[in-house]
Amino acid sequence: MPTRALIVGNWKMNGLGPGGLGLDGIALADALGARLSSGPPPRCELVLAPPATLIARVASALKGASIALAGQDCHAEPSGAHTGDVSAEMLKDAGCRYVIVGHSERRRDHGETDVAVRAKAAAAHRAGLIAILCVGESEAERTRGNAEAVVERQLRGSLPATANATNTVLAYEPVWAIGSRRTPSTAEIAAMHALARKAVGARWADAAGARVLYGGSVKAANARQILGIPGVDGALVGGASLDATEFWAIAQSCP
Ligand code: PEP
Repeated sequence: MPTRALIVGNWKMNGLGPGGLGLDGIALADALGARLSSGPPPRCELVLAPPATLIARVASALKGASIALAGQDCHAEPSGAHTGDVSAEMLKDAGCRYVIVGHSERRRDHGETDVAVRAKAAAAHRAGLIAILCVGESEAERTRGNAEAVVERQLRGSLPATANATNTVLAYEPVWAIGSRRTPSTAEIAAMHALARKAVGARWADAAGARVLYGGSVKAANARQILGIPGVDGALVGGASLDATEFWAIAQSCP
């Protein structure tokens, strides 16, 4: 069974530093590292997913603080003629332990299908990374009453045969909740997490240890309530991970 909740901060395309280009990711990493070294350890495992260009600098800023690093995406191939892409092996080499695959912004901006996401998750496993595999319905799909069918279909289509509870973390992220300050009800989150757990129950020998994160407008003010929902093993946090105080408060909200 999972012992500690997992809190993942996804910085997206932010963090280049002062000078009008968004927040300073290194200062943010420094602030988190300082909190970890001075206060009581959080009751969760912390992961940061900076933009690929900042991974090495964030790793060095964290100076061994117990925060793992994640890529925000990876290519399915280990190397080759894929201009602009980063492979899972490269992320591993840069110091990552995790990689996010199938985020709805990748599915939207880059047309990533379940088949593509499955190949990326398999690439993560090949490289020795833990895949954080995102699924979630759009608002229209929920309104039509199709949310559960969509998530089931995404899980079926995007989980590779190599996946298990050790090398894969599931993240339920309703698309309409991302960056919107809206969240599903407690019952809706609990139901979707139960569905995800059931979906892997038949496929993974170690399914009892499956971790299912919730993502979508998690902030300090709602973290305790969301992280306390049965079946929620942590959170994937976007906007609120760009503020050290807010992110730290979320980490401290783990039950
Ligand atoms: C996300 O993009 O994965 C996310 C959960 O974003 P936010 O927390 O800003 O809704």
